[in-house]
Amino acid sequence: DNITVSLEGRPYDVLIGQGLIGKSGEYLAPYARSGRLLIVTDTHVGQHVLPQFAASLQAAGLSYAAHLLPAGEGAKSWAELERLVDWLLSEHIERSDHIVALGGGVVGDITGFAAHIVKRGCHFVQVPTTLLAQVDSSVGGKTAINSGAGKNLVGAFHQPALVLIDPDVLDTLPRRELGTGYAEVVKYGLIDAPEFFDWCETNIDAFLAGDADARLHAIARSVEAKARIVAADEKELTGVRALLNLGHTFGHALEAETGYSDTLLHGEGVAAGMALAFRYSVRRGHCPVGDADRVSVHLAKAGLPTTLREAHVDASGGQLVEHMLHDKKKSGGTLPFLLANGIGQTFLAKDVDLDDVAAFLNEERGR
Ligand code: NAD
Ligand code: ZN
Repeated sequence: DNITVSLEGRPYDVLIGQGLIGKSGEYLAPYARSGRLLIVTDTHVGQHVLPQFAASLQAAGLSYAAHLLPAGEGAKSWAELERLVDWLLSEHIERSDHIVALGGGVVGDITGFAAHIVKRGCHFVQVPTTLLAQVDSSVGGKTAINSGAGKNLVGAFHQPALVLIDPDVLDTLPRRELGTGYAEVVKYGLIDAPEFFDWCETNIDAFLAGDADARLHAIARSVEAKARIVAADEKELTGVRALLNLGHTFGHALEAETGYSDTLLHGEGVAAGMALAFRYSVRRGHCPVGDADRVSVHLAKAGLPTTLREAHVDASGGQLVEHMLHDKKKSGGTLPFLLANGIGQTFLAKDVDLDDVAAFLNEERGR
């Protein structure tokens, strides 16, 4: 599959295919200035994917240098950004170079940001190796590191020149990481594609078992959805891109409450957040209860949490609302919320009363 992200003036391609890692030399040769590429990856991906990737570059007559980040969210730091930028400069990077981000969302986010600032902007190519990165973070151009004040607060919009997706690399991905990416796959169905949610219900077992066709379909469909939404609102100015945040307002509150730790990974927070957004939509009279039930049953089938208890959160509704306000830099009253009239029918409710959200969450504590 070949999906084009249609940004005005600088469209780019997302290539999706089994075995692409083994052919990356061929695909990346046009992007290698004087036959050389600078690769950024992490210690896990360095072990599981880099050997095959590097062999393919060598087979195509390309040379490379690689920089290893520590695996995990901690790498999105000022300290690692400084080390990475210093490394790129020590390798004499030029503006016409392409940096390759080979890894999950962490590698993609910090590498994209480094590419944005080094020499006032270099090109980069995304080769995402987690499901989350393949269906979400590698497409769309958001890059960032974390700061003491919070996650993703320092960053830039910097679109990649090319995205190469090989579903085969998911073979070595830990099962829990597959689940976090799957939550974002389901999200695209829930936003505006009810037939894709139907497809997920039918094909979840094949997908989770690693069936090649199911993987290709789920990834391609997700990338299409993300590319379409990003093309409609690249810099989150019109509100269209905000649709991608379905489940994320509740989810971020749960992540904040669990300290952005391994207790609750991002996609797990999003899964519980989507289940909550649907049940809250039922409570407000927007959504049939049967649709909210289908959402929870499906996410649970993927092993994802759908209740506060399963998300290991035991905070009051008021405490969770405080996290939402802090996240949005607000101090009370109302917040815009993504709610649903049903599966595939998400809409932005402009002013949701936060006391009502807190009351709802207090009821959810007993679930
Ligand atoms: P990650 O990059 O930390 O990867 C998860 C784990 O899997 C890591 O330990 C990694 O080393 C390992 N791994 C990666 N590929 C592997 C493979 N093929 N085989 C075995 N192990 C492998 O996490 P993630 O979930 O990919 O990304 C999360 C990050 O993405 C967060 O920082 C989040 O803020 C960011 N994000 C960004 C956007 C965006 O639009 N830029 C969107 C969503 C999330
Ligand atoms: Zn997300």
